[in-house]
Amino acid sequence: MPPISSDALVLRTNKLGETSKVVVLLTRERGKVRAVAKGARGSRHRYHSALEPLSEVRVGLYGRHGADLYRLGQCELIRSAYVYGGRDLETALTFSYYAELLDAFSPEGEADEKAYRLAVAVLQSVEQGASSMVMARYLEAWLLRLHGLYPPLDRCVSCGSKMGEGGREYQRSARGFVCGRCGVASGLSLSAESRRFLDQVFREPPSALRSASVPAEIEPFHQELIARHLERDLRSYRVLRDALRTATS
Ligand SMILES: [Zn+2]
Repeated sequence: MPPISSDALVLRTNKLGETSKVVVLLTRERGKVRAVAKGARGSRHRYHSALEPLSEVRVGLYGRHGADLYRLGQCELIRSAYVYGGRDLETALTFSYYAELLDAFSPEGEADEKAYRLAVAVLQSVEQGASSMVMARYLEAWLLRLHGLYPPLDRCVSCGSKMGEGGREYQRSARGFVCGRCGVASGLSLSAESRRFLDQVFREPPSALRSASVPAEIEPFHQELIARHLERDLRSYRVLRDALRTATS
């Protein structure tokens, strides 16, 4: 049987036996899949740096459609994450966070062209000099939106009336932004600056935000939406926060 050929992002790898790895890939054609990479470990391993998390690769996968575990055949490096993800500790840790976030939001075996294109565009923007932190907020916003989890910014979730300029009041119980008439101060507030940032995120490609600065309140807001959906914290996010706190203290 000919292999399934697909572009893919490496999300993570786990050791398997003495010489092999199980690779978790976000593929364009088949969504998230697992594949055994035989001979991927050791000093003369077959795949070199192609299996670094967030490297973009072109793979050949053997196995029937919908298999739990494929076998990795050819694996050609398209873009190495190491080149730009290895620039500094903050970027490296942020990349681990991107990978875990993409992993957590990708159901196995369901192709999602939009999520794949989003991830690649975010990585390209970082490669071209965008702040990895701004791109983290971009990736979070869009993954949440693609899963129907981002509350609409333009209408009151309670009465449906259109909301104009200015900031937004988030109501946890309603899981959305509420207008002045419906608003009860029960949750988070986002400033007008934050709303403008988010408007830009949802209107522009990531490359357009290369020199944008991100209001600090966006991060805890996104983390609340993510934790509510996943019902857990992401380990790489904790590591990243701890490292940044240590660096600035
Ligand atoms: Zn309202």
